[in-house]
Amino acid sequence: MSNAEWASRGDKVFIGTYSRFPAAMVRGSGCRLWDADGKEYLDFLAGIAVCSLGHCHPRITEAICRQAGSLVHVSNLFHTPPQIELAELLTAHSFADRVFMANSGAEANEAAIKLARIHSDGGKYEIISLAGSFHGRTLATVAATGQTRFHQGFEPLPQGFVHAEFGDPQTIEHLITPQTCAILCEPLQGESGVRPLEPEYLRAIRQICDRHGLLLIFDEVQTGLGRTGTLFAHEQLGVTPDIMTLAKALGNGLPIGAMLTTEKIAASLIVGSHASTFGGNPVAAAAAVEVLRIMLADGFLESVREKSRYFVSKLQGVVARYPHLATGVRGRGLLLGLVLTEKGVEQGMDIVQRMFEEGALINFAGSKVLRFVPPLIVSPGEIDLLVEKLCLVLDRLA
Ligand code: PLP
Repeated sequence: MSNAEWASRGDKVFIGTYSRFPAAMVRGSGCRLWDADGKEYLDFLAGIAVCSLGHCHPRITEAICRQAGSLVHVSNLFHTPPQIELAELLTAHSFADRVFMANSGAEANEAAIKLARIHSDGGKYEIISLAGSFHGRTLATVAATGQTRFHQGFEPLPQGFVHAEFGDPQTIEHLITPQTCAILCEPLQGESGVRPLEPEYLRAIRQICDRHGLLLIFDEVQTGLGRTGTLFAHEQLGVTPDIMTLAKALGNGLPIGAMLTTEKIAASLIVGSHASTFGGNPVAAAAAVEVLRIMLADGFLESVREKSRYFVSKLQGVVARYPHLATGVRGRGLLLGLVLTEKGVEQGMDIVQRMFEEGALINFAGSKVLRFVPPLIVSPGEIDLLVEKLCLVLDRLA
């Protein structure tokens, strides 16, 4: 069956929540994908920062198959070895002592929101998040998301979410009320255009939390698991949260999320207060254990930082060559954005579409920047190829 035939079948049965490229992907390996017509793509989207070890990494495939052949699901009424191993790895390599397993980023954030509320003295419930943030598509995480376009049509949203201006600690302080229990933010805003939070800003947010007795929640759903060159983005920013959420790259494509916190805070969630049927499913957890083992092996994270430096230098070359279209490069590790000029922004969607036609996958984040989130195993040669294709597309536009 061809791409067109698959698309026509899909268009008849799906609720129209997605605008999809006209391709049905049928196979992946490393940083490459192939569609039903046999066309090859260089994948700098990685399932939106999910397939960080590349498509069908042999060790992950082996871990999935091994676990699928012995036990797929028993619910959280029982212990399972992969889930325990995963929680041990996560706590051994983070500030956290305790983990709650979920299936997605939004679910991990829901767990964090519930924990922040139940942990607070006297039923405090308000959470301050930042303008431009993205925290998920469930009702509470939509309410936490600081972009009104995600709210429209779904009101009334759950109460207790307010949004502070991006970059100004004072506006956060002004929003604190006797009902405030936490501040929620991403160390780098991915969806709204690869916007890093500066270390001083994050330190100021930590100080505000400490001064007012608020919990600091870092949504590391996109930035976590090596994406920014350290296992968690906050490690390089010198600020430690009280709660952290993970998902995306954790299962390298299998759905799994996690909410991590300290022993003391975790004690507020007791038997029956939160749960998930599939959370920490053994197959997804087995994949995640292997993901962490690979990422924690000697040299892996250093290689991400090295490739980031190389990619940034190449993108800076693009800025120098096309100053009328691009103004700069921002981001951390391999979560990078090419910031477009006003003229570039007008053509942003067109650039992404033309890159697709050239067999290269990127996206246009926050209607402002071209976002690059390749698998972390990307080679310098693949970075060169992506930049070549980008220049080809930009030349044609110019
Ligand atoms: N938080 C952040 C920072 C994200 O980037 C995303 C997804 O893009 C989410 C939460 C939601 O994750 P999910 O789509 O797995 O629910």
